[in-house]
Amino acid sequence: MLRSPLPGSSRATSPHPPKTPQHNHENDAPPIPGLTVPELQILKSACLAAKERAYCPYSHFPVGCAILTKPNNLNSHVTPQPSPPNIIDGANVENASYPVGTCAERVALGTAVASHGCRKGNFRAMAVVTDTVGIPGSPCGMCRQFIAEFCEPSMPVFMYNKDGDYKVMTVEQLLPMGFSMDALHSNQGDHSGEKPSTLQVP
Ligand SMILES: [Zn+2]
Repeated sequence: MLRSPLPGSSRATSPHPPKTPQHNHENDAPPIPGLTVPELQILKSACLAAKERAYCPYSHFPVGCAILTKPNNLNSHVTPQPSPPNIIDGANVENASYPVGTCAERVALGTAVASHGCRKGNFRAMAVVTDTVGIPGSPCGMCRQFIAEFCEPSMPVFMYNKDGDYKVMTVEQLLPMGFSMDALHSNQGDHSGEKPSTLQVP
């Protein structure tokens, strides 16, 4: 999430998912099946460390992101990952030309894809941390679309505030009905004259 000082480009606010998101302290048991307490603690530590490397001289809003990847599925032709667990991190990197800056989530995911050969299905969880007090910061709209390109709809995204409290939501909860490759493919056949039978026009 990139906190840009440009007018009208503020960070996205937290949405209201169909189910009430958990709001836990770091010492609570993680509510996501398949993710252990140590894994969550490592994920949190990694995104906290990444936040310290943020380059944000304009917004002064550092953001750290860490992604937990599945083991033994990384491209063997690229630099080996530390093991285990496999963590890839990133931080926001700003620019004097404000829109050129990049959010921590896209830095981390871009690194995972371009430097480590990760693809959709390789990721288990993401954690993001900001210095917000109270409600944790959440990925901006652009990052939600970016996350949805590479992460499964059910993958959890943990969002931490300055006090170590977090909300956790799935990718699908963060971006319901997101645009995807399926939509592009659905337009490649001969659909002349076809109309969606379930389309509801208000
Ligand atoms: Zn963002």
